[in-house]
Amino acid sequence: MLCAAARQWLSFILFGYYAGRVQITSAVLDEIRYRTKPRAENSGWMQSAASEAVRVIGLRPSLVDDSEQYDAKIFDDVHRRLQSLAEAAGKAVGGNRHTGEAESIARCVALVKDGEKVIFLTNDTDASRVAAEHRIATLHFGSILQELVCAGRLDTNRASNLLQEVLQHSGINPGAIGALSCLASGGSCLTCDDLARRL
Ligand SMILES: [Zn+2]
Repeated sequence: MLCAAARQWLSFILFGYYAGRVQITSAVLDEIRYRTKPRAENSGWMQSAASEAVRVIGLRPSLVDDSEQYDAKIFDDVHRRLQSLAEAAGKAVGGNRHTGEAESIARCVALVKDGEKVIFLTNDTDASRVAAEHRIATLHFGSILQELVCAGRLDTNRASNLLQEVLQHSGINPGAIGALSCLASGGSCLTCDDLARRL
Protein backbone atom coordinates (compact mmCIF):
# COMPACT_ATOMS: atom_id res chain seq x y z
CA MET A 1 0.00 0.00 0.00
CA LEU A 2 1.19 3.50 -0.73
CA CYS A 3 2.61 5.70 2.00
CA ALA A 4 0.52 8.58 3.26
CA ALA A 5 2.82 11.44 2.23
CA ALA A 6 3.34 10.30 -1.33
CA ARG A 7 0.21 8.32 -2.13
CA GLN A 8 -1.66 10.92 -4.14
CA TRP A 9 1.30 11.89 -6.24
CA LEU A 10 2.47 8.34 -6.69
CA SER A 11 -0.91 6.91 -7.62
CA PHE A 12 -0.96 9.47 -10.44
CA ILE A 13 2.46 8.29 -11.67
CA LEU A 14 1.67 4.61 -11.20
CA PHE A 15 -1.65 4.68 -12.95
CA GLY A 16 -0.21 7.02 -15.55
CA TYR A 17 2.83 4.89 -16.46
CA TYR A 18 1.04 1.59 -15.94
CA ALA A 19 -2.33 2.76 -17.26
CA GLY A 20 -4.34 -0.11 -18.69
CA ARG A 21 -1.79 -2.63 -17.41
CA VAL A 22 -2.66 -2.75 -13.69
CA GLN A 23 -5.57 -4.64 -12.19
CA ILE A 24 -6.64 -5.60 -8.70
CA THR A 25 -9.12 -8.33 -7.88
CA SER A 26 -12.40 -7.66 -6.07
CA ALA A 27 -11.19 -9.51 -2.95
CA VAL A 28 -8.23 -7.11 -2.75
CA LEU A 29 -10.60 -4.16 -3.07
CA ASP A 30 -12.69 -5.63 -0.23
CA GLU A 31 -9.53 -5.84 1.91
CA ILE A 32 -8.63 -2.22 1.12
CA ARG A 33 -12.19 -1.14 2.03
CA TYR A 34 -11.89 -3.03 5.31
CA ARG A 35 -8.66 -1.15 6.05
CA THR A 36 -10.52 2.19 5.85
CA LYS A 37 -12.52 1.26 8.96
CA PRO A 38 -11.61 2.40 12.46
CA ARG A 39 -10.62 -0.98 13.94
CA ALA A 40 -7.86 -1.82 16.37
CA GLU A 41 -5.79 -3.56 13.67
CA ASN A 42 -6.06 -0.60 11.28
CA SER A 43 -3.65 2.20 12.22
CA GLY A 44 -4.53 5.80 11.40
CA TRP A 45 -1.90 5.73 8.67
CA MET A 46 -3.46 2.59 7.19
CA GLN A 47 -7.00 3.99 7.25
CA SER A 48 -5.85 7.14 5.53
CA ALA A 49 -3.84 5.30 2.85
CA ALA A 50 -6.69 2.82 2.27
CA SER A 51 -9.25 5.63 1.92
CA GLU A 52 -7.08 7.29 -0.70
CA ALA A 53 -6.65 3.98 -2.54
CA VAL A 54 -10.44 3.44 -2.56
CA ARG A 55 -10.90 6.96 -3.92
CA VAL A 56 -8.32 6.45 -6.71
CA ILE A 57 -9.76 3.05 -7.65
CA GLY A 58 -13.27 4.54 -7.67
CA LEU A 59 -12.11 6.98 -10.36
CA ARG A 60 -10.94 4.08 -12.54
CA PRO A 61 -13.40 1.19 -12.22
CA SER A 62 -11.55 -0.70 -14.99
CA LEU A 63 -8.73 -1.27 -12.47
CA VAL A 64 -10.89 -3.87 -10.74
CA ASP A 65 -10.94 -7.37 -12.18
CA ASP A 66 -14.17 -8.78 -10.81
CA SER A 67 -14.43 -11.62 -13.34
CA GLU A 68 -13.75 -14.19 -10.59
CA GLN A 69 -12.61 -16.52 -13.35
CA TYR A 70 -10.12 -18.83 -11.72
CA ASP A 71 -9.84 -22.41 -10.56
CA ALA A 72 -11.49 -22.73 -7.12
CA LYS A 73 -9.12 -25.56 -6.21
CA ILE A 74 -6.06 -23.40 -6.91
CA PHE A 75 -7.60 -20.61 -4.81
CA ASP A 76 -8.12 -23.09 -1.93
CA ASP A 77 -4.59 -24.52 -2.25
CA VAL A 78 -3.01 -21.05 -2.31
CA HIS A 79 -5.18 -19.84 0.57
CA ARG A 80 -4.30 -22.84 2.73
CA ARG A 81 -0.61 -22.46 1.93
CA LEU A 82 -0.64 -18.75 2.84
CA GLN A 83 -2.44 -19.51 6.10
CA SER A 84 0.03 -22.25 7.02
CA LEU A 85 3.05 -20.02 6.27
CA ALA A 86 1.51 -17.28 8.45
CA GLU A 87 0.78 -19.77 11.20
CA ALA A 88 4.34 -21.16 11.08
CA ALA A 89 5.66 -17.59 11.47
CA GLY A 90 3.39 -16.97 14.46
CA LYS A 91 1.24 -14.42 12.58
CA ALA A 92 -2.52 -14.10 13.03
CA VAL A 93 -4.61 -16.36 10.80
CA GLY A 94 -8.31 -16.92 10.12
CA GLY A 95 -11.19 -14.72 9.02
CA ASN A 96 -10.75 -13.12 5.62
CA ARG A 97 -6.97 -12.99 5.90
CA HIS A 98 -5.11 -13.83 2.69
CA THR A 99 -8.24 -14.07 0.51
CA GLY A 100 -7.07 -11.08 -1.57
CA GLU A 101 -3.64 -12.60 -2.16
CA ALA A 102 -5.12 -16.05 -2.84
CA GLU A 103 -7.61 -14.65 -5.34
CA SER A 104 -4.88 -12.60 -7.06
CA ILE A 105 -2.57 -15.60 -7.43
CA ALA A 106 -5.41 -17.88 -8.62
CA ARG A 107 -6.42 -15.24 -11.16
CA CYS A 108 -2.78 -14.86 -12.35
CA VAL A 109 -2.58 -18.64 -12.82
CA ALA A 110 -5.79 -18.54 -14.91
CA LEU A 111 -4.50 -15.65 -17.05
CA VAL A 112 -1.16 -17.39 -17.69
CA LYS A 113 -3.09 -20.50 -18.71
CA ASP A 114 -4.92 -18.30 -21.24
CA GLY A 115 -1.53 -17.24 -22.65
CA GLU A 116 -1.35 -13.79 -20.98
CA LYS A 117 1.84 -12.25 -19.61
CA VAL A 118 1.25 -11.54 -15.93
CA ILE A 119 3.28 -10.15 -13.06
CA PHE A 120 1.90 -10.22 -9.52
CA LEU A 121 2.65 -7.10 -7.48
CA THR A 122 3.05 -7.73 -3.78
CA ASN A 123 5.20 -6.56 -0.88
CA ASP A 124 4.42 -9.69 1.09
CA THR A 125 7.21 -12.28 1.21
CA ASP A 126 4.87 -15.23 1.79
CA ALA A 127 2.58 -14.23 -1.10
CA SER A 128 5.58 -13.83 -3.35
CA ARG A 129 6.86 -17.28 -2.35
CA VAL A 130 3.50 -18.98 -2.97
CA ALA A 131 3.14 -17.19 -6.32
CA ALA A 132 6.57 -18.52 -7.33
CA GLU A 133 5.43 -22.02 -6.40
CA HIS A 134 2.72 -21.54 -9.03
CA ARG A 135 5.30 -20.14 -11.51
CA ILE A 136 3.91 -16.61 -11.26
CA ALA A 137 6.56 -13.86 -11.41
CA THR A 138 6.30 -11.16 -8.77
CA LEU A 139 7.51 -7.60 -8.31
CA HIS A 140 7.41 -5.48 -5.15
CA PHE A 141 7.20 -1.74 -4.59
CA GLY A 142 11.01 -1.37 -4.78
CA SER A 143 11.04 -2.98 -8.23
CA ILE A 144 8.28 -0.62 -9.35
CA LEU A 145 10.33 2.37 -8.22
CA GLN A 146 13.32 0.95 -10.14
CA GLU A 147 11.18 0.58 -13.28
CA LEU A 148 9.95 4.17 -12.94
CA VAL A 149 13.57 5.36 -12.60
CA CYS A 150 14.55 3.40 -15.73
CA ALA A 151 11.51 4.81 -17.55
CA GLY A 152 12.62 8.35 -16.66
CA ARG A 153 9.50 8.97 -14.53
CA LEU A 154 11.37 9.32 -11.23
CA ASP A 155 14.85 10.47 -10.29
CA THR A 156 17.02 8.36 -8.00
CA ASN A 157 16.72 10.71 -5.00
CA ARG A 158 12.93 10.88 -5.12
CA ALA A 159 12.69 7.10 -5.57
CA SER A 160 15.02 6.50 -2.59
CA ASN A 161 13.00 8.86 -0.38
CA LEU A 162 9.74 7.15 -1.35
CA LEU A 163 11.26 3.76 -0.65
CA GLN A 164 12.41 4.85 2.83
CA GLU A 165 8.86 5.97 3.63
CA VAL A 166 7.34 2.75 2.35
CA LEU A 167 9.79 0.57 4.27
CA GLN A 168 8.39 1.98 7.52
CA HIS A 169 5.07 0.32 6.74
CA SER A 170 5.88 -2.63 4.53
CA GLY A 171 7.48 -6.03 4.72
CA ILE A 172 9.83 -5.58 1.75
CA ASN A 173 13.36 -6.78 2.45
CA PRO A 174 15.53 -3.67 1.86
CA GLY A 175 18.52 -5.93 1.08
CA ALA A 176 16.72 -7.11 -2.06
CA ILE A 177 16.56 -3.58 -3.45
CA GLY A 178 19.42 -2.04 -5.38
CA ALA A 179 20.54 1.57 -5.73
CA LEU A 180 17.38 2.69 -7.59
CA SER A 181 19.43 4.08 -10.43
CA CYS A 182 19.40 3.32 -14.14
CA LEU A 183 22.71 2.09 -15.55
CA ALA A 184 21.54 2.02 -19.16
CA SER A 185 23.81 4.89 -20.20
CA GLY A 186 26.79 3.66 -18.15
CA GLY A 187 26.62 -0.06 -18.84
CA SER A 188 24.18 -2.91 -18.67
CA CYS A 189 21.07 -2.11 -16.63
CA LEU A 190 19.42 -5.30 -15.39
CA THR A 191 16.02 -3.63 -15.03
CA CYS A 192 16.11 -2.16 -18.52
CA ASP A 193 17.21 -5.50 -19.99
CA ASP A 194 14.47 -7.26 -18.05
CA LEU A 195 11.83 -4.70 -19.09
CA ALA A 196 12.78 -5.10 -22.73
CA ARG A 197 12.26 -8.84 -22.40
CA ARG A 198 8.89 -8.51 -20.68
CA LEU A 199 7.20 -5.71 -22.61
ZN1 LIG B 1 17.60 0.97 -16.42
